[in-house]
Parts: sequence; C-alpha cells; structure tokens
Amino acid sequence: MTQPAAEQSDIQCQSCGGQCAFDPAQQDLLCQSCGSLWPLATENDHEAATEFPFNPDAPMEEYPGLQGDQIHQCETCGGEVIFTGPALSENCPYCNGPVVLRIEDKAYATMALVPFRITRDHASEHITNWISRRFAAPDNLANTAETGRIASIYAPFWTFDSREAIEYWASYTTGSGDKRRRHHVSGTMDVFFDDLLVPASEHVTPLIRDGVLHDFRPDYLRPYRAGYLAGFAAERHTMPVQKGLRLNKQDKDLLIRNKIKKHVGRHNARVDRYRTDTTGIHYRRILLPVWILHYTYDGHAKKVVVSGIDGRTYGERPFSKWKLAGYSAVLTAITIAFGWIWGATGIL
Ligand SMILES: [Zn+2]
Ligand SMILES: [Zn+2]
Repeated sequence: MTQPAAEQSDIQCQSCGGQCAFDPAQQDLLCQSCGSLWPLATENDHEAATEFPFNPDAPMEEYPGLQGDQIHQCETCGGEVIFTGPALSENCPYCNGPVVLRIEDKAYATMALVPFRITRDHASEHITNWISRRFAAPDNLANTAETGRIASIYAPFWTFDSREAIEYWASYTTGSGDKRRRHHVSGTMDVFFDDLLVPASEHVTPLIRDGVLHDFRPDYLRPYRAGYLAGFAAERHTMPVQKGLRLNKQDKDLLIRNKIKKHVGRHNARVDRYRTDTTGIHYRRILLPVWILHYTYDGHAKKVVVSGIDGRTYGERPFSKWKLAGYSAVLTAITIAFGWIWGATGIL
C-alpha cells in the first residue's frame, strides 16, 4: 500500500482556488477564502474499518510507502510531524518546542483515521471546564492556562486483534494460620482480543494515550485522505508491525493474567505461568485526533489533553500550597473535634 504525500490539489477549493481546511463541525473541507464546503465522504468509506492479516511466522517484507514528505522535526523531543494546508504555528504539538524542516525518507502508509469531531473552540471549552473543577487549584490557574497554546495532532496508533489459546498454571490459598493451604490448578481458555490500541510513537505519552483510548469506535474510521489532515498536524507511522506486536504483547500479558485469575475464580489466585498460542493477528495503522494545551505554571511546562473524538479531558495541573494547607488545617480541626467528642464520651 503506497500513497503520495499530500497534494496541494487535494485541499484546494474547486471554485476559487483558495486553500481549504478540514472542519470538524461539518466533517467536510471548508474553503478559508470563499466559505465553500467540499465533501470528503466516498462510497468506499466503510472499507476504512478493514483489518489486515499479519503472520508473524512469515512476516511480509514491509516497505515504507511514503517518500519525500516534508516533515517538521522537533528540536526538543525529536517528534516528527507534518502540517497539511493552511499555515499552522510551527511548534511541536507534543512538547511545544521549536521545529525544523526536513525531508522524510521513511514512513508507512496510514490505512485509516478518525477525523477530528471536536472543534478547537469546543476543546477550549472542555479545558476551561476541566480546570474549573480541579480541587485546590491556584486562583490564577484559569488565567495562566488561557495564555497557553492549543495544538492539534493526529497521533499514530495500531489496532490489533488476536486469538489466544491459553494454557495456565495457577495457585490459591485457603484457610489461615496452621490451616493455610496452597492449592495448584491448571486450565485452558480461549480469548479473543478485538481492537487493542497501541501507540505507534514514543511521543504518544500515557497522558495522550489515555485521552483517546477509551472511545475508539471502528465505525468512526475513514479512509486516509489528505483533506482530513488539512489545517492539522499529524505524525507519520515510522515503526514496523513487529514493534507494535511487541508492545501489544506487553499489554496483553496484563489482560491475560487478569482473565486467568477470573477463570480460577478465587480472589487470591496467583498466576504461576501460562503459555499462549497466538493466531489470527489482524492490524491497522490509524491516526487518532487529539488536542493538547501547552501552558507554563511557575516555570513548569504542563499539558492538558482533549480527545478530538469525544472531548474527554485529562491533564497536568499545579496545586495551591495555601489551599492544601487550608484543607489540611480543616481536616486537623475535624480530627481534633472528633477526638474531643471521643474523649468526652470516654469520660462519660
Ligand atoms: Zn473557495
Ligand atoms: Zn517536541
């Protein structure tokens, strides 16, 4: 699967020649000059949810399909992004660092993406609400955050499906003291994993991952088209599937251990070991939309992440030392008050 770098004609207005940007509210291309709307939907949109088989015993030679893309590389975190269409602030969406222009020589084709559904204004509202609900936040936090920069990024992910034929050995204890006994059990079970999401970039931090992980819906996927990226930053896929499978294996290990404990049906079950025969691996290379607010508080860089799919908001924030001290003083007072009552009832 190969695809050309974003062509100017893909995002050029067919009526006035102006430059278009993807509009999350309308899900269409919007001309920045004359306001014309151009649909991006095609009759093949349903194909975007297609998953591709992968046989680890006979890994296909996968060649990076994209060449000659102009990318921006961050001088601070090393993140590499492309900017499509209307001029964007040329700062790294991941860390807000300065970027330099480079030519990308190695990237894999993106199969599908979930277009932004949340507009910049909505993202900003979600951030304001999120900040206003923070416990013991400094009074000037809202104003400080307002001076920050909200960046967009289509972040690269894999989805993985697999069937696991698991054989396990586990143990659990019953009784206590002298009657404490350890019991050993073994068993087999089949597990099907569907659409496990794995970040395909080290710049997709747990904060970003958690922000978009919860609301992945395959029916929101659209075939990759440059128009969806117009006006947004995107990171290309640069890692081979094998790398994704290794990361996926680490995630699955935790899930499999939890499933075994459930299968054993004892609250103190311990998984001694297991082996699994993995078959039916299917994957996709996709992009998921994220808004990231970068702000600085007291000299510390902080981020608030808003899912571009449903507005779910996660973030980093400072605490007010004074408010925390105040709350703790109140708690101490309550404790002392309880102490007095306790003491008083004790005397009575
Ligand atoms: Zn136009
Ligand atoms: Zn960066």
